[in-house]
Amino acid sequence: MSEHQVGYRGPTLLRHAARKTCIIPSMNGDIDRVLITEAQIAARIRELAGEIGTAYPEPADGIVIVPVLSGSVFFLVDLVRLLPMKMRIGMVAVSSYPGEATRSQGAKLVSGRFPDVRDRHVLLVDDILDSGGTLRLVRSVMERAGARSIKTAVLLRKVSRAPVDVPADFVGFDIEDRFVVGYGLDYNDYYRNLPYIAVLRPELYKVAESCPV
Ligand code: 5GP
Ligand code: MG
Repeated sequence: MSEHQVGYRGPTLLRHAARKTCIIPSMNGDIDRVLITEAQIAARIRELAGEIGTAYPEPADGIVIVPVLSGSVFFLVDLVRLLPMKMRIGMVAVSSYPGEATRSQGAKLVSGRFPDVRDRHVLLVDDILDSGGTLRLVRSVMERAGARSIKTAVLLRKVSRAPVDVPADFVGFDIEDRFVVGYGLDYNDYYRNLPYIAVLRPELYKVAESCPV
């Protein structure tokens, strides 16, 4: 991992920084680079809604949308308000990046609440497809529950990491393998409320490093 890559020297530094209040207090001041702007996100979600609308030509009993909490909620609410078909919305919570982890620690289903999906068309919605562990797990839960079809919409996909056995049917943006935050994506539960997708400043870690532990 290069010195300038987000996550350099590991996430524990941020925890120490937060504890010692060495962290830069302004949220926007923590941002190194905006990768995808608010306007780009809005325009792409409009296109995705068109693609999804075409893929589900008015199923009589509607579709079941299953967002993966918590990261997908911003994407979810912007997307579903642009979808024309009848739908029910459930939710599942999966934990794979607990706390300050920047690599998946293995996907675990934390909780689920979704309508009966037996013989229904299910659209899984997630913020980002990385190792694929999350969507592989949720997909198998939906299969076991008897879904008629399962498709997947993700706002972001890390192309170099996404595995072939976990296809995403609708993808907002392909990005490189960087740890990103914003628009629902967190680092240690912060930064979800940024309206854009960004990477954090490496200085954040350097500041943290200079903090007494
Ligand atoms: P996967 O299971 O495909 O490895 O990862 C999917 C989940 O991991 C996403 O729903 C998201 O919560 C988290 N994740 C993966 N990559 C990133 C990233 O770059 N930034 C953030 N904030 N979360 C990520
Ligand atoms: Mg997630």
